[in-house]
Amino acid sequence: MGAVLDAWTNEAGAAKAQQVFAEHWEAEPDGVWASPGRVNLIGEHVDYNGGLCMPIALPHRTFAAMRRRDDDVVRLVTDVAGSSPWVGRLGDIVPGSSLGWVAYAAGPAWALAESGRPVAGFDAAICSCVPLGAGLSSSAALECAVGLGLDDLNGHGLAATEEGRRTLAELCVRAENDVALAPTGGLDQAASLRSQAGSALLLDCRDQSISHVWFDLAVAGLVLLVVDTRAPHALGDGQYAARRNACERAAAQLGVSLLRELTPEASLEAVASPEDQRRVKHVVSEIARVQEFAAAVATGRFYAAGELMYASHESLRDDYEVSCRELDLVVEVARAGGAIGARMTGGGFGGSAIVLAREDEAQALADAILAAFAAEGLTTPSLLFATAAAGGARIA
Ligand code: ADP
Ligand code: MG
Repeated sequence: MGAVLDAWTNEAGAAKAQQVFAEHWEAEPDGVWASPGRVNLIGEHVDYNGGLCMPIALPHRTFAAMRRRDDDVVRLVTDVAGSSPWVGRLGDIVPGSSLGWVAYAAGPAWALAESGRPVAGFDAAICSCVPLGAGLSSSAALECAVGLGLDDLNGHGLAATEEGRRTLAELCVRAENDVALAPTGGLDQAASLRSQAGSALLLDCRDQSISHVWFDLAVAGLVLLVVDTRAPHALGDGQYAARRNACERAAAQLGVSLLRELTPEASLEAVASPEDQRRVKHVVSEIARVQEFAAAVATGRFYAAGELMYASHESLRDDYEVSCRELDLVVEVARAGGAIGARMTGGGFGGSAIVLAREDEAQALADAILAAFAAEGLTTPSLLFATAAAGGARIA
């Protein structure tokens, strides 16, 4: 099998972050906080329609070594190649400031203060084993790791309760929306902060309520292979906005505030364009699939769940039109190789696909996927194995 991206242990992640901290800020951090990336099992492009989705937190996390300061200075460094350290003040971290990666790292400080939870200045060093821009939510992992540190260092105590974590997740969404200026619907931060090990998170995006669905693949002899296609997603941004707009337009024409309110039987005649009708068809059918998927997984019917993953992919490919050659290729090869299920995951136009397979078939499937990419002259994908990990926490 090609190179598999392994997750760092608590010890390894903390040691790396502490070392970078000491190198740059010539001191010991007060602690280290870690928060995971995520992969969405099913329920794509439904969060902004008030739908249901079902992510798991990855064992791959972002680690933030942090120290509270007595002034309003903020100093940040990350181990990501090409990203410069940043020194500024809390007052510099506001909507409209063009801060690049710093917006994700420091945005939670602004969001906490905005919500009436003031924070002191801080020094931080970030290290991560979540691949960036792979659709596995390195952005939320970063916001949530720093958000957990700030919560702790300033005594707000949000991380101690489920209700508090829900608030912290919402504040991290605000940081990403308003400071980093990236539209995101709440799935990523909920997965990063509210997941439990061994379970998938069934998230209702209408009210951010959750339930935990047992998802221990090892017991069932299964694995979830994540294929980061590394496809360039140049079209992604504009297309994401276009899909959101189509959903809003269709909802207005159908007289509902959110597409979530429609049943799969609802007539779509009132939607003016055939293209918008297909967009709605995806959203409505996808929400129904999430419900079926959760029921199937909860009762150990993984083959039924896998079929729903394939159906989800087809809907995203044909009705929502957010797939691309690389994502389709993973799913085609997976199906031909007898995988239980496969689908693109995340926003689309690149990013990652997931393959649910029997443990003893995973190697052959991974080899077949790599061979198919090579045969088409595509960039070699990165692979990782996902298990349902815990949400973010202080680890040192
Ligand atoms: P994804 O969340 O799918 O990985 P995004 O485009 O939403 O992709 O977020 C990626 C961006 O988040 C990066 O371009 C960078 O600005 C920021 N980021 C994420 N992780 C880190 C990190 N460890 N260090 C510095 N910046 C990071
Ligand atoms: Mg992101």
